[in-house]
Amino acid sequence: MLDRKIEDGTVFVVFDMEWNQPFTGKEYDFEVSELSGEIIEIGAVRYEYQNGTINRTGVFSCDIKPVKYKKLHFHVKKVTHKSNEDLKNGIDLKTAYENFREFCGPNAILAGWGNSDPDMLKMNLKFFGLDDELRMFFIDVQPVFSHFAGERGKQRSVEFAVDHYGIPKTDTFHNATSDASYTGEVLKRIFDCSKTSEVLSVLSSSAIDPDIKREFSSVGASCEKPEEALALLMPSERTCPICKKPMFKEIGEFRIRKSVYALYNCEKHGDIFVRIRVKKNKSGHYYASSIERIATQNDYFLVASKREEFSKFGSKGEPKQENVEEM
Ligand SMILES: [Zn+2]
Repeated sequence: MLDRKIEDGTVFVVFDMEWNQPFTGKEYDFEVSELSGEIIEIGAVRYEYQNGTINRTGVFSCDIKPVKYKKLHFHVKKVTHKSNEDLKNGIDLKTAYENFREFCGPNAILAGWGNSDPDMLKMNLKFFGLDDELRMFFIDVQPVFSHFAGERGKQRSVEFAVDHYGIPKTDTFHNATSDASYTGEVLKRIFDCSKTSEVLSVLSSSAIDPDIKREFSSVGASCEKPEEALALLMPSERTCPICKKPMFKEIGEFRIRKSVYALYNCEKHGDIFVRIRVKKNKSGHYYASSIERIATQNDYFLVASKREEFSKFGSKGEPKQENVEEM
């Protein structure tokens, strides 16, 4: 049974992975989209929650020998400073993963910087015929940091967060174990520098279940007018994309320029962020595409700031916005 309640004794495993990439244009005897990266390193640091803070209880570090992408992609080489020789010294994924699970223990909550690692781990497990159900919650520390550092809506690097808290930079970045270690120290500072009840509430609401699909997209038919295209993806009653049960409207649909935003809630799956965008196709017709996903901290921020903009300026949005990045 998954439990995302954080109490004394709760174990956090902050992990990070490096993976090698396929070469574009090279022929492989399998579907490359089913293995967009092959894991070559897992690094992790274990913490135990006690009385408003977390304390380090262990470190895990493991190199994995790739069997599909054996030659380092130049991007990976540049970022990780690994060599082709290094790859040969790793162990097989199955053993590495078993060791990692043992390190995690039975009831850990996983954490990491950014949300791509759990998906990449699951992709590798599935591709190599291993059980790909993680059965652990995952917390992306990056938006949690943004929340507490007054950087909401910004996607910062772990190095930025390390500098923000003045954490000593004793290791290089972009090595799985040191990145996991830095991310863990950032998480510890978040606990130590903020109100415990707020940290616990943000962490609990940020925890996702990596075993369920979190994002659903759909594309509507083409129409003469943008309004018609949008209407096709705006049902009178919105149902949860996961369980199909009717959802409760928290922030109803509102339009800013070419996008519609909304926030719904499913009793079982929590808050669902909705964004619909209208686009023009080559023949000059309009069509809309929508994304429904389990809301992240960034999504809460996005929908709240867009709603505020809407209440000030209406559907045309704030005039002449410069240097504002659309997320
Ligand atoms: Zn649901």
